[in-house]
Amino acid sequence: MKSLTKANLFLKIILLVLLLPLAVPVLIPKVGLAYSGVNYELISKEKIIALTFDDGPHPIYTPQILDILDEYQVKATFFMIGSCMEEYPGIVKEVAGRGHLIANHTYTHPDNLRKLSPEELKWEIDQCQQSMQRISGQNNYLFRPPRGILNREIIKILQEKGYTIVLWGVCAYQREAPTPEMMATRAINRAHPGQIVLLHDGRTDFRWKDVAATRLIVENLSQQGYRFVTLEELKPGNKPVRPY
Ligand SMILES: [Zn+2]
Repeated sequence: MKSLTKANLFLKIILLVLLLPLAVPVLIPKVGLAYSGVNYELISKEKIIALTFDDGPHPIYTPQILDILDEYQVKATFFMIGSCMEEYPGIVKEVAGRGHLIANHTYTHPDNLRKLSPEELKWEIDQCQQSMQRISGQNNYLFRPPRGILNREIIKILQEKGYTIVLWGVCAYQREAPTPEMMATRAINRAHPGQIVLLHDGRTDFRWKDVAATRLIVENLSQQGYRFVTLEELKPGNKPVRPY
């Protein structure tokens, strides 16, 4: 009986070892992989935080965020979609005029840049950059891919064009943080010198959550002595230090 239990245990261990490689591809996306040459945070010992807003400009949420940022004298970075800039040029000018940084988030926000041909990818990048330069007067070579999706080939094309690629250290909105309060707590708990926080101002109609979370984050972190900076603070040679 005893030897039977032992044999049973042995069999289970063998089975586990055999099945482990199958589990690895499932585990990897959860752990996250850092791409070299991509920025996930600012390297700094100072208490600085970079707030970044993706997917705008939006006619309702972007102005609301601008008012909150002004109230606390905070500057941020807006990764904008080129076609939305064409739709709301007045808001783009407002963002630039109030001293924020505008950066490239493609022209049409394709769901997966890996599915694009190199020509299509280059078009997305160039077209967005042209709209940004013409409308905002800014010409920053900062790029964030939609949904953070990259691969070596995309990185190579961007780097050849002279772009600095920026992802983030913490995204406020997650399935497990569906309310503004939970979103803010998520960002606040992960605050550390150089952290890049991802918030959103466009593409869906529930960005009021990001608006509310922005106020909570700014209020709390200001009280903790954090200073808010734009991604202009990115130093050349900034290395990815951990997965996002
Ligand atoms: Zn996006």
